Amino acid sequence: MIDIELLAKYPFLPEAREYVASIRIDELFSPIYEDVRDYAKNWIKSSFENIHLPFLRGEDRILAFYTAKLYLIAIQDPIVIQRFANHFRDSLESMLLSEEENIVDLVASGLGIDFRVAGEDIKRMNLEYRNYLVFRMIHFIDFVKSASRISGDAFRLINYPLKDGWVPVNKETFVKILREAFVRNFTREIEEKRGDAKILRRYVGNDIREILEIKDKFISRYSSEELGAVKSDAFPPCIKSILVKLRNGVNLPHQARFFLVTFLHRIGMSNEDILKLFATAPDFREDMTRYQIQHITGKISGKEYEVPKCETLRAYGLCVRDVYKDKLCQKDWMTHPLLYYKLKKEWLSKRSQSSE
Ligand code: SF4
Repeated sequence: MIDIELLAKYPFLPEAREYVASIRIDELFSPIYEDVRDYAKNWIKSSFENIHLPFLRGEDRILAFYTAKLYLIAIQDPIVIQRFANHFRDSLESMLLSEEENIVDLVASGLGIDFRVAGEDIKRMNLEYRNYLVFRMIHFIDFVKSASRISGDAFRLINYPLKDGWVPVNKETFVKILREAFVRNFTREIEEKRGDAKILRRYVGNDIREILEIKDKFISRYSSEELGAVKSDAFPPCIKSILVKLRNGVNLPHQARFFLVTFLHRIGMSNEDILKLFATAPDFREDMTRYQIQHITGKISGKEYEVPKCETLRAYGLCVRDVYKDKLCQKDWMTHPLLYYKLKKEWLSKRSQSSE
């Protein structure tokens, strides 16, 4: 039997379910649980303000987590869901880093991660040749699934000595893999329960309006009416597809963010306008995003990065010409998104002159 305070810290563990299984939905939305509901609502709202609420203890925290999940199922808004998942993910990471090994293992098992304890030979080899202490071995499939969402060399499979499909990682990397597994499982579960949204909205109508207002306020702080001097109609499909994902709260991989920034910068968009576009990213932090944009555009580094070519974008999986069936993209000579933009812009302006 797992201690209730431990389950309160990790309320997504399967063992925490028995604390909520006996409570009916109409009971949870009765006056008895008003405090729990308030906490759950504020928990979601706090993810837009990057603040951490005082820590609830025991059964109350398990119930509040469960209630927050019900709100998210009812809302089915990708931005709100990702903001909350990422907010929880960050506190999960700091808690796990200070836990004993057996607790980290318990959480890893609860998240369905395939891992094992490293043998002495692996530990010694890594310490001698690679200078890091192996904490656990993760099966490469679980490693790749989570690591693809994290930037940095420590999360590229190519940098590890694979042993029969197992990746030896230190504690920091293991914990980061767990936190991403949490986000993946959590968002998938909410998505899968989409069918329950309608019924739940009967109970949570007013509360979710409050949450959606906070989200709208947050986005409107950053949203610009249009994209400044640039002509968005002329954007190549790969850029349009990234922008659609960004607006829908999808967590973009590093290469997509890099491409978007270099492209928009080269066609004349100001760094402040680029920043506003990122406000809907689930992990948006103004200071960090501003720093990254300034770095890529050469304000900090002094090095202005080039916009990647179509060939490079294809290798990153960012080219969507086969999905959009765009005629320009099908041409053999279409090798660069900036060439696409230039030609399409000229064509659009000729078309508008001839129709005047
Ligand atoms: S062909 Fe080039 S411009 Fe067109 S979608 Fe692919 S990467 Fe973008």
